[in-house]
Amino acid sequence: MKNAAISFKGKTAFNAQFDDIYFNTDKPWCESEYVFAKGLDEIWHEQDRFIVAETGFGAGLNFLTLCKKFQNSGKRLHFVSIEANPIAKHDLAEIYENLGKFKTLAKKLARLYPPLVRGIHRIEFSEFITLDLCFGDVLEILPELDFKADVWFMDGFAPSKNEAMWSEAVFKHIARLTRLGGMVRTYSCAKIVRERLVRAGFWLELRKGYGKKRQMSHAVLKQSCEISKDPWFARCETALNLARAPRALIIGAGIAGLATAVELRKNGFDVTLAEAKDAVATNGSGNHCGVLMPLITKPDVNLGRMHLNAFLQAVRFYRSAMSERYIKFSGCIDYAYDELLAKRFESWRDENADEILTFDKDVKPYPAMFIKGGAYVRPRKMCEKIAKDLNVLFAHEYLSHKHLKNGQISVKFKNAKSLKTDVLVFATGSKSAEIFKEKEILLSSVRGQVTHIEPLVDTHMPFSAFGYVCPSIGGVQVIGATYARNEFCDEARDEDDAENLSKVSEFLDSKKARIIGSKVGYRSYSSDRFPVIGALYDEEFYKQSYKDLFWSKHKDTNPTAVYEPNVFVNIAHGSRGLCTAILGAKLIGDLVLKRPLCIEKSLFNDLHAARFLVRRLKRGQK
Ligand code: SAM
Repeated sequence: MKNAAISFKGKTAFNAQFDDIYFNTDKPWCESEYVFAKGLDEIWHEQDRFIVAETGFGAGLNFLTLCKKFQNSGKRLHFVSIEANPIAKHDLAEIYENLGKFKTLAKKLARLYPPLVRGIHRIEFSEFITLDLCFGDVLEILPELDFKADVWFMDGFAPSKNEAMWSEAVFKHIARLTRLGGMVRTYSCAKIVRERLVRAGFWLELRKGYGKKRQMSHAVLKQSCEISKDPWFARCETALNLARAPRALIIGAGIAGLATAVELRKNGFDVTLAEAKDAVATNGSGNHCGVLMPLITKPDVNLGRMHLNAFLQAVRFYRSAMSERYIKFSGCIDYAYDELLAKRFESWRDENADEILTFDKDVKPYPAMFIKGGAYVRPRKMCEKIAKDLNVLFAHEYLSHKHLKNGQISVKFKNAKSLKTDVLVFATGSKSAEIFKEKEILLSSVRGQVTHIEPLVDTHMPFSAFGYVCPSIGGVQVIGATYARNEFCDEARDEDDAENLSKVSEFLDSKKARIIGSKVGYRSYSSDRFPVIGALYDEEFYKQSYKDLFWSKHKDTNPTAVYEPNVFVNIAHGSRGLCTAILGAKLIGDLVLKRPLCIEKSLFNDLHAARFLVRRLKRGQK
């Protein structure tokens, strides 16, 4: 992905690649209001939440026009915009300086603007406005989206100069991603635009254009268009009685449970957390110090794309919610201690990802990837801080749950009274394998021991090679960690401390290391290393309805997935829960609130709880 090559014709931003200007020379915000924002007036009084999507984010003028409209309106805007060549921050600043309009909003956009790397970037612009910036070509991004927009803004450069933005396939996807009765607005009334809108199922009206332009297109979707790709991974339908604040009960008060609680509470839920132990963050989230860094794969590998999305969301979440007392954004280093890793890191060179990842092959003792935005964290302290504002019930060990006739869910605990809820979320870390043993969710528990030593390695940023080393905090330096699948021993072991020291022996003289403590935790991993995030599927339905997937997987006769109503999981985060738990929280929010997804649909599928079962059925194994 390349950044936009911007030049200025007078004060107007110009793109030489397309030989076109970004917007009109004379008061472009008036055209933005007239052509695009005005479309919402037609449905303004009918709803409180709007999903608006756009082809061509450019400088975000249409987005800022809408921000103005939604500011102080009490209504919510979720704006999704696609951009193949994002404009660099300094160019954005110049464009708005020249415009002399939207100064405060533009400054805010520049401040929150994501790094210009491929993928979906969720930006919480204000309490009521969310922006999903999707960086990539329109035809790469559209198949990865899954929502029903109220209004689409088609704002590519002129069809004669930018054919790819107005292809037949683009219109088909836009129809799939529009609710029945939803609209498309565009300044263009070119023949191909008119014809393709109609062929995609829109009723087209040509309206008076802005200023000297004779006409513009206003189109309404008259027949809904469903394409049932991978129906076994279809989004769940949430059914909530929103007449009162719905209740959410979250099982488990580690970082995944707490982040999910924050997300749902922010969106009007009455949230309770139920924790088996007497404190928060007693297991995987409870270390003295932890590292916030993504797993880096080659750029096109789904596991790594998911981790990068999760990392960037986590950075934004912690930056906005946590002070330096809990997290220090020092950056961090991932050393390539073998050839394979070095090749993998090197493959980022052409990705234009320097804003986050820079590779230096001449660093000692190994070539190194520097990760900007990386941080070291005080996980337990952070969890305690988050929990302060939440309702946490301790000594509540989950036993079972059942669905009541009125749509609620009744949850039983060992040694505590049952609770009723509308939404139930499992964030049960290493206990998940036991809780879901009846389902085909392939999980295992991994014992990990970290070692606390007196400060020995002088580093201000955490780094990782065979093992990892954190900067010292309060006279303790944490190094780690061992990895023992399905081993259970709560006592710390000397041989594990020795293993931790030997794994970082290039960076310290282990004879000088004075061990002052160790901590054992259990992390939950899935068999394919992706976390398990989303709605809990109906095992019986899947086994019955998809039993012949070996034969029928390419047919379009398969029924749509069925889920346990309003039950979700945010589990199997392994050793990177500080990152992926935040992605899990946002995704569960997306499902519950019917928002666009904060990650590509193919990656959402990779996180799906039924993927293990679906894979087996597709292979035809009984
Ligand atoms: N809506 C913008 C605003 O409010 O500032 C102006 C959009 S400008 C007219 C068109 C945008 O479409 C450019 O930013 C361009 O990079 C983008 N674009 C062109 N071809 C594209 C493609 N194939 N995929 C995604 N974006 C594309």
